[in-house]
Amino acid sequence: MAASSYQIALESLSPEHQEVVKLVGRHASERIAPLAADVDATGEFPAELYKQCHELGLIGLLVPEEDGGVAAPLLAVCLIYEELARASAALAVVVSNSVESVVPLARFANAAVRTEFLERVLVHGDIPCFALTEPSAGSDATAITTRATRTDAGWVLNGRKVFITNGARGGLFTVIAVTDPEARKSRRLSAFVVDRNAEGFSIGASESTMGLRGSPLTELIFDDVRLPETSLLGEVGQGLPIMMDQLNERGLVRRPSALEFVSMRRRGLSRTRASGDSSVTRSPTFRPSSSCWPTWRSGQRLPAGSPLPRGERTTPAGQTRTC
Ligand SMILES: Cc1cc2nc3c(=O)[nH]c(=O)nc-3n(C[C@H](O)[C@H](O)[C@H](O)COP(=O)(O)OP(=O)(O)OC[C@H]3O[C@@H](n4cnc5c(N)ncnc54)[C@H](O)[C@@H]3O)c2cc1C
Repeated sequence: MAASSYQIALESLSPEHQEVVKLVGRHASERIAPLAADVDATGEFPAELYKQCHELGLIGLLVPEEDGGVAAPLLAVCLIYEELARASAALAVVVSNSVESVVPLARFANAAVRTEFLERVLVHGDIPCFALTEPSAGSDATAITTRATRTDAGWVLNGRKVFITNGARGGLFTVIAVTDPEARKSRRLSAFVVDRNAEGFSIGASESTMGLRGSPLTELIFDDVRLPETSLLGEVGQGLPIMMDQLNERGLVRRPSALEFVSMRRRGLSRTRASGDSSVTRSPTFRPSSSCWPTWRSGQRLPAGSPLPRGERTTPAGQTRTC
């Protein structure tokens, strides 16, 4: 039988990294998968599962070794995400968000606080978050209005963020804010680190989502939050490149749906294969809202990166739709 794209990717890694991916795969099957349906049903943040992933060292996957991380190659990180997503798409998003949100701290934090920030995340399990989106600024990120104003002692932050992954459980938040509204777009923004316990900072409401339940999307409110000078990441006016660096790492918009698809594909296929019954169309944690997945349902293998299969479904009213 021809090797799958997954197998080819796995075998292109060093033996050491292959072992790590397999270890995460075993952990996902034995410890995560049995709880995935509960996470989905309750929508509760999977704190114990996150702790286990933290203890496995996964949060430092993209952090250099000299900073206490693992510095894994990107391909290994993708396969690890896929192993997590195979068991629970929500946990994969929770964990991958932390893996990526610690990166700006490692790359841009002030030397006086960098070690403390990294220790909090990598050793003590504080959850890092990345806060850019606002009610009136999504795709057009430079339209944000959260404002950081300089004072004698540092900065004062005012504004509101929404849809922040893990926000309800976050410990350290990278927040993008306007520091010079008059400057050209490329110099208008700066990035700051905000501690969960900072005075004037509060966690707002969490969204109720259709999928990825257990991965909370939360509102953050900054009301005259006083920040020390050392909370600035990089230089004043460097918010846009820091933001782009972060978005390149994570693909904020694409990742959740991609992970869900991978997770669904692998769980669907393995169940179909295991049962030998092509009528098996459900896994315990995924409820298809329509039967738009003819290829998946028939148990046919999809090469990685192939477009979503198109097919026909019958609506409750009996009409035939192509989707
Ligand atoms: C699961 C999830 C997790 C998230 N986690 C985070 C997080 O941790 N931190 C964070 O800061 N944000 C987060 N977000 C928010 C995310 O970054 C935004 O949803 C994203 O930037 C898109 O913004 P929007 O939802 O306001 O959509 P909009 O900007 O309103 O876009 C809606 C649609 O219109 C299209 N569109 C927009 N502008 C144009 C245009 N000019 N021309 C043509 N088409 C256009 C877009 O492509 C999109 O298809 C998360 C979102 C989700 C769904």
